[in-house]
Amino acid sequence: MRVLRTIVQTLFLAGVVALLARGLSGLTPNTCETYCPFGGLVAIFPLAKYRAYTCALTEFNVALLVSLIVLTFATKKSFCSWICPLGTVQEWIGRAGKKAFGRYIRVPSMPDKTLMLLRYAVLIAVPVLTYTVWKYDLGFRAFDPFYILFTWGGHETAAFSVYIVIGVLAAAFFLPFAWCRYLCPLGAAMDPLSRAGGLRLRRNAETCTDCGRCDKACPHAIPVSSVEEVTARNCTNCMECVEECPEKGALELSWFGK
Ligand code: SF4
Ligand code: SF4
Repeated sequence: MRVLRTIVQTLFLAGVVALLARGLSGLTPNTCETYCPFGGLVAIFPLAKYRAYTCALTEFNVALLVSLIVLTFATKKSFCSWICPLGTVQEWIGRAGKKAFGRYIRVPSMPDKTLMLLRYAVLIAVPVLTYTVWKYDLGFRAFDPFYILFTWGGHETAAFSVYIVIGVLAAAFFLPFAWCRYLCPLGAAMDPLSRAGGLRLRRNAETCTDCGRCDKACPHAIPVSSVEEVTARNCTNCMECVEECPEKGALELSWFGK
């Protein structure tokens, strides 16, 4: 499963890098934001009110948003660990950090839970600022590490934007998926659907030996060994816990109960 996931991640990352190369060489006006489902979310309000798209957003962004909703309903947040190129880059950096420190660094529960609320603040702030302060322009570009990185500092970014990318990538080394965990508005938007998602991971207490290897393997700090079913909203179905589990059948996947 890990090999398959790495292949899928690499293909999506290669796709966005190829798009970047084509954009830089002037072969296409499209950028990574053309393929961003979060754009679909930002587009909803002006589309409903004015029947117009905001700035560079198109119906394709809305179609991607709908696809993401269906995917999340079917597989929870698999998008984050299988498709999102920014997630892939962070994961690979996080693995380097794990090697350097010998384990994933964890933030204590209380500050961790508090910081996770920031994602909802970003989720609300981006559309509100887009429709008010930024006057329907995509002002979030200057703060969006996905856009800044995969357009290589595209238009409407600022001098500070590069520091945002450096900060996000550096943070991923010390704290796995720091951006996704604390600031990603798309991840926050997926939370409610993710909880209802059809792809479920259960721990079989009869075959589990409580060795705790799954806990150490989880880049999202989910205490897999102490739950019957992984219902944490930040589980991305990366299957790292399953890969590490030495007991056959101790962790089992089901899809809508089957
Ligand atoms: S619980 Fe398992 S599948 Fe979910 S994020 Fe952690 S390691 Fe990945
Ligand atoms: S790695 Fe497997 S056997 Fe060990 S605690 Fe986790 S589920 Fe149980």
